[in-house]
Amino acid sequence: MLPYQTLEEAASALGRNLTLPEKLWFNYSANKSDLLLFSHNTIFLCLVFSLAPLPYAFIELSQSEYMTKFKVQTKIKTSFSDMFKCYKDVMKTFIFFVAPLQILSFPTVKVKIPKPVKSWAYEFEEISNLGTKLWQGVGIRTSLPLPSMWEMLSQLVVYFLIEDYTNYWLHRLLHCKWGYEKIHHVHHEYSSPFGFAAPYAHWAEILILGFPTFLGPTMVPCHMITLYIWAILRHVEAIQTHSGYEFPWSPTNLVPFYVGAEYHDYHHFVGRQSQSNFASVFTYCDYIYGTDRGYRHHKQALNKLKDM
Ligand SMILES: [Zn+2]
Ligand SMILES: [Zn+2]
Repeated sequence: MLPYQTLEEAASALGRNLTLPEKLWFNYSANKSDLLLFSHNTIFLCLVFSLAPLPYAFIELSQSEYMTKFKVQTKIKTSFSDMFKCYKDVMKTFIFFVAPLQILSFPTVKVKIPKPVKSWAYEFEEISNLGTKLWQGVGIRTSLPLPSMWEMLSQLVVYFLIEDYTNYWLHRLLHCKWGYEKIHHVHHEYSSPFGFAAPYAHWAEILILGFPTFLGPTMVPCHMITLYIWAILRHVEAIQTHSGYEFPWSPTNLVPFYVGAEYHDYHHFVGRQSQSNFASVFTYCDYIYGTDRGYRHHKQALNKLKDM
């Protein structure tokens, strides 16, 4: 909820006219509670998960000869019923586990209202909210001004780097005997992954690997809009790396050290014994810690076969 009643009040508090995105955000969020705005993350999660894997699903079900050239495990065909079962299982986890968890976690990300310029109302609110400020954890803000493009981009890059590094170690830990047998085996049920299988996992894994996703915004607090974009991008990226298709025209090929579908597909292909390709976003951790050796040998062997 914004600490201004009207656009004029917001403009006078900022000391300038509002930009178009700021006006749109004001009109949308002014009378919504911070909890409701935070809960949008669950809605976006369900929407992205329902829509982003669809193009890959159509390609898979169409059995197009041209598109099959870009499939990583060409011999494996995923049926509609497999995809739908996976979709239903993940949606159940989202609705009955992730959504309540997000609502319960709200006090830890409780929104900080940044100090508007020359506002006596803010000073009053500061004093009256002194008690609740003890609960203000992460400090995700909803107020104006909106973050600049530079601020958003730099925060997103930092979040991806933090997520990637932390996820690498937690994922590697989940491949120990106990972690795999009790938790991680669920995610590896699909040895040839597809878009809908990206968040298919044991509830404990969703909790454990949710930590790297929110560690970045915890360390570098951002605006709620940046948090929405971060959650969407992270989810789209996971769907793409699980899509089972590696397209040469994908814009992500331009991102240095990007994991991509083929790279993560190998991790699923090897399955239980996999001690290779743990990374979620970038390949450099696997390279530095030597956990991409199996994959590199596999690629070399494939290339030799092609040359013969
Ligand atoms: Zn794994
Ligand atoms: Zn996976």
